[in-house]
Amino acid sequence: MKKVRVRFAPSPTGPLHIGGVRTALYNYLFAKKHGGDMLLRIEDTDSARFVPGAEEYIIEALNWLGIKIDEGVGVGGLHAPYRQSERKAIYKKYVDQLLENNLAYIAFDTPAELDVKRTEIANFQYDASTRNQMINSLTLTKEEVKARIENGDSYVVRIKVEPGEDIVVHDLIRGEVKINASIIDDKVLYKSSDGLPTYHMANIVDDHLMEISHVIRGEEWLPSAPLHVLLYRYLGWEDSMPQFAHLPLLLKPEGNGKLSKRDGDKLGFPVFPLQWIDPKTGEKSSGYREAGYFPEAVVNFLALLGWNPGTEQEILSMDELIHLFSLEKVSKSGAKFDYEKGKWFNHKYLQEKLNKELALLYASILKEKGITTDEETLIKIVALIKERSNLIPDFWEQSAFFFQAPTSYDEKAVQKRWKSETPQLMSELMAVLESITEFSATNTEEVVKTWIAQKEYNMGAVMNAFRLSVVGELKGPHMFDIIAVIGKKETINRINNALKNILV
Ligand code: GLU
Repeated sequence: MKKVRVRFAPSPTGPLHIGGVRTALYNYLFAKKHGGDMLLRIEDTDSARFVPGAEEYIIEALNWLGIKIDEGVGVGGLHAPYRQSERKAIYKKYVDQLLENNLAYIAFDTPAELDVKRTEIANFQYDASTRNQMINSLTLTKEEVKARIENGDSYVVRIKVEPGEDIVVHDLIRGEVKINASIIDDKVLYKSSDGLPTYHMANIVDDHLMEISHVIRGEEWLPSAPLHVLLYRYLGWEDSMPQFAHLPLLLKPEGNGKLSKRDGDKLGFPVFPLQWIDPKTGEKSSGYREAGYFPEAVVNFLALLGWNPGTEQEILSMDELIHLFSLEKVSKSGAKFDYEKGKWFNHKYLQEKLNKELALLYASILKEKGITTDEETLIKIVALIKERSNLIPDFWEQSAFFFQAPTSYDEKAVQKRWKSETPQLMSELMAVLESITEFSATNTEEVVKTWIAQKEYNMGAVMNAFRLSVVGELKGPHMFDIIAVIGKKETINRINNALKNILV
């Protein structure tokens, strides 16, 4: 078998969409599974859509996720350069070859002339049925063509698609996909205005020259595949044509249709791996990294959107994914983007992290808020709240009360839990706590519970008011764990404050 070589070939037109990240990931998993190479090629032949910073963004995102590039932009390799804008001369040669072999032709029609045709002919398509009425090297004489070129008229080169034939694309996910050549138009392959090929031409030439064995890409490229098959044939490369695999779409979390940035904005989740600030408008789009996701969780989540290993196992490391991955198990139908599931994955990965590591990550969030705590305390806090958190930034919501005494008290809880006898209970509780010298969670729990039992108080009545005083709401970890962290003095202070501030 030919050595497996796959490529991720994004166009630098903006931040990499999460669907593009999944494409890169599947390419990577497939390459590594088969001991092959993963290439990164930047398809920047459409200068009008070029966005500064997009290429750097793509590389940074792949790095963050642990998708390693063996060859390509940023790495180099035998087939350099890997940025298409730097490969102009290479493409020109093959464009000329197609022209010589009469498999393509030169067309001079201006945008205005094309518009006229569109109004004259319903559903106008530049193809075998119309090319004879257009201004091109098939309708002009050799001399006229030469004169126009010498005159500096701009032109394009179009592929000559012969109608009638069923073109077959063998897709590793979809099987045989047949498309009749009649519906394909004579696509532009090259533009004299910038001397650059279009996507189709550059894509095929590079896949061939870079010895790509498998083209794994999004479903949106399936309609281009028959044209690509034809180009391989026209260029005489049919025998070494890569195998195709078109991945299913990522769908909206609810309902149908392709996942868009707007869905993310509306439902509050990122659709980009990293934060992106639009260089023109300054508009900020959130990213998984900045939202507090672990790259391993994002990888695991994305891997299972459209593929599964055929077992119930859901938590899979990159190595396990590589081991289990196969294109045959990729589904044909679109995968709903279940954002909640993404959080679930992060939750799972978060539980497995060392508290020390989590404390370090949390410390930087706290620092921004002007809070510094010793590492030992932070490790204790993190251990108490991680089970309730999906993302590191959730830590604050779950633990703010460790660092700051409540300044207000949840009204509903007060109404329900702060009765006329509560102040008396809390005063007694303060005295009980005051008497404890070893203020550990186990010890305070034992002493307080013994006191409640002896006095035959209602456990709920005491504990809820206690929590309300210390936390400000009826939430948080085990009460005795909380007070062991904040200490005796602070605990008693908070109860005192509550007694002053909660009026019945
Ligand atoms: N440049 C195309 C893109 O932006 C590549 C499509 C392909 O992989 O052939 O996705």
